Amino acid sequence: MKNRKLLMIPGPSPVVRSIQDQMGRETVAFGDPEFVKDFKGLLDDLKVMFKTNGEVFVVAGTGTMAMEMAIANTTKRGDNILLVSHGFFGDRFIDICERKGLNVDVMSSEWGKIVPPSEIEKKLNEKDYAAVTVTHVDTATGVCAPVDEIGQVLKKFPNTLLIVDGVCATAGEPEYVDEMGIDVLFTGSQKAFGVSPGLAILWAGPKAMERRRTLGTIPEYYVDFDKWLPIMDNPSKYFATPAINLIWALKESVRIIKEEGLEARFARHRKVAQAMQKALESLGFTLLAEKGHRAVTLSNLIYPEGIDDLSFRNLLSEEGIMVAGGLAAYAGKMFRLGHMGNIDMHDLVSVIATIERALYRSEQNVELGKGVGIFMHEMLS
Ligand code: PMP
Repeated sequence: MKNRKLLMIPGPSPVVRSIQDQMGRETVAFGDPEFVKDFKGLLDDLKVMFKTNGEVFVVAGTGTMAMEMAIANTTKRGDNILLVSHGFFGDRFIDICERKGLNVDVMSSEWGKIVPPSEIEKKLNEKDYAAVTVTHVDTATGVCAPVDEIGQVLKKFPNTLLIVDGVCATAGEPEYVDEMGIDVLFTGSQKAFGVSPGLAILWAGPKAMERRRTLGTIPEYYVDFDKWLPIMDNPSKYFATPAINLIWALKESVRIIKEEGLEARFARHRKVAQAMQKALESLGFTLLAEKGHRAVTLSNLIYPEGIDDLSFRNLLSEEGIMVAGGLAAYAGKMFRLGHMGNIDMHDLVSVIATIERALYRSEQNVELGKGVGIFMHEMLS
């Protein structure tokens, strides 16, 4: 008999039945009064939950499009921009910003570590920057940036906007837009919201909206805030066809989050991550991210001696879980395990047991049940 395969890559994350059901509904016209009401309600909820007096945009596209949307609406050719990079996705901003004609400065950490906020402050004192970008959780390294502290630093530089890539963090790691000094926050539907890929969600605080006004007409069309603002205000209007079923799916995700409570959701992510990470370390894996800066949404696990990456991931797949490989210098040395969104507790126990079975079949000296025991003890404490 074939086992169900658990989706444990760091996004897309598992999509629960009630969200799948929304995607399976019969599609209606975007002007359908019921849909318009649903969309408007969703936008209002997103603004309140993530606490901004600015705007929220829900647009068909992926996280990368949201990166481009953030840059397009806050900078103009010739501006200076500071990119704080903790890995592959932090670096993705380099190309986006260079194509836009920005003067790019990059502050990078060694993979697994962070750029200290004090260093960012020093850099900001040296030059005027239109914006700073930070990836809250870099999916390539599993490092969580101290966004709150960086937000505090940015408060001393009122002309510089803080752009936060929350693709692998939002709805899992605490993020409150205005309170934390974030000017633009964005994510994709497929991560901690637990919806299928295809929607970008972007919050723009009052300072970011003011910056947009100063830019006048911008070269970009589809991602222009000004094109979408009338629709976000009144979704019965048309600019480009909304992803109706995904919007319903996101609405169901937000309903689930409200039912759980956003704070409770953050706490659950923290607890699960700590328990998972302790269990996996006990099985011989090493976390790439240093203590104190580990993400709660995924774990980036360096293999113990003697494990071949491809064979191990094939074994995991045979045993029933899909994980992701390492990127760049860590390709072949590490695997990445997502544990974000609407993840099921039975599945998590099963995931650790599956990893134990794959280690056993890789002829590692593993005590079956050890990781499972540690995980359960941690979750029950
Ligand atoms: N930023 C981060 C932190 C990501 O993890 C990803 C996707 N893994 C992206 C941006 C790009 O998102 P997408 O693949 O949805 O375009």
